[in-house]
Amino acid sequence: MSEKNIETYRQKLAQYIKLSSVSAKYQNIPETADFLKQTFEELGSKVQVFTDEKFPLVFADFPVPDEKPGAPTILFYNHYDVQPAEPYDLWHTDPWTLTEKDGKLFGRGVADCKGDLFARLTALKDYLDENGQPPVHIKFLVEGAEEIASQGIHSYFEKYADLFKTDLIIWESGKKNEIGQLVITGGNKGISCFELSTHSASIDLHSSNAAVVDGALWHLIAGIASLHKDGKIAVEGFYDGVEEPSERAKQLAHKMYYSPTKIKEEDHLEYPFIQGDDENAIKEALLFAPSLNIEGVSGGYEGESVKTVLPKQGVAKFDARLVPGQDPVDIANKIQKQLEKNGFGDVHVKFTMGVTPYRSDMDAPLIKQLITTAESVYGGEDKVEVLPTSAGTGPSYDFNHFLDAPIAAFGVGNAQSGPHAPNENVVIKDYETGIKLLEQFFSNLHEKEL
Ligand SMILES: [Zn+2]
Repeated sequence: MSEKNIETYRQKLAQYIKLSSVSAKYQNIPETADFLKQTFEELGSKVQVFTDEKFPLVFADFPVPDEKPGAPTILFYNHYDVQPAEPYDLWHTDPWTLTEKDGKLFGRGVADCKGDLFARLTALKDYLDENGQPPVHIKFLVEGAEEIASQGIHSYFEKYADLFKTDLIIWESGKKNEIGQLVITGGNKGISCFELSTHSASIDLHSSNAAVVDGALWHLIAGIASLHKDGKIAVEGFYDGVEEPSERAKQLAHKMYYSPTKIKEEDHLEYPFIQGDDENAIKEALLFAPSLNIEGVSGGYEGESVKTVLPKQGVAKFDARLVPGQDPVDIANKIQKQLEKNGFGDVHVKFTMGVTPYRSDMDAPLIKQLITTAESVYGGEDKVEVLPTSAGTGPSYDFNHFLDAPIAAFGVGNAQSGPHAPNENVVIKDYETGIKLLEQFFSNLHEKEL
């Protein structure tokens, strides 16, 4: 690893973080896409910035290896947008200034996933300096709306998927888990977000009317309650088509580091886990079971003290985490149908956004090669955790659907990196090991004679 390259690219990372590219506010979005275009061009790549959708998509295509026209392609997927930095008063450093402190780098996006992109670019620069062209065809796809459900990416794929064709997708970011294992993940759960609402009058009424007028919130809450019975989601067809995980996928889930006892203590959980004390069942559910969650319920008076009002409307926000076999819009429709069937036709479901789930095949040859390399760089088999899917959500389905390539997600974060939270950070040593991993991966592929 070249100290000079690490330093140069860390300075560029600082510029990248300074761009404060919050997709939710459309803040510095085109500016950040331009910055990346320039950065990729400096590395010798052909760059296209697609602007058909609101959020530009940056696509960098490095030259095909000279003597290896049939060499496999690796596509790196990242996003240049970040979450808002609020609340600012909880940050110990300025979120938009990359700051080194206590062996860590702090800044909004450093773990999700600006630091990852720059670790990758540093590795590539190192490799290019030392060996010339890498043994594989390298592409980078960097979107600008990942933090708002990857709006527009589907349309981009519909138009340009042929350009992005690849044999392996290296996914945006990742982290070490709490016991310091590098986590390599092969997919994501999906999500369906929707709102339930009721409306009962043109104005909020004096609450004395409650003796004779039915309230919107009663209907909303009763409707919500009817969707859940004995700890199960009581919606007809909700579990239809849900793909069973393979035996290997289940085994990988059982090996996952996840301690229900610790989480219970740390978060002071008042209720038992839905699966009881069966740790493997909890791990399987976390990775392979769909869920239905109430994000919030609002309506009427929610301020201080008392206001005796009979609210004219109520709204509840929901998200359902989905697994392969489920479709976001279909799930919202099924909720509406169930409400009608339960006698709550006045509760309306409005679909807001969704992401289709995807689970990768962790036995693909390039993924196996990557796992072997990671085990050697991080110090052994027990230093790497391989998961067929994460419990979170990302646009991996579209990538697999259009590109038909396996996915491996890993990155330079750790369990305390706090992506989306104040004081987001990465450990400098992890950042540098992340650079080493990719350099080693390129070298191994080179030696392997592809
Ligand atoms: Zn994020």
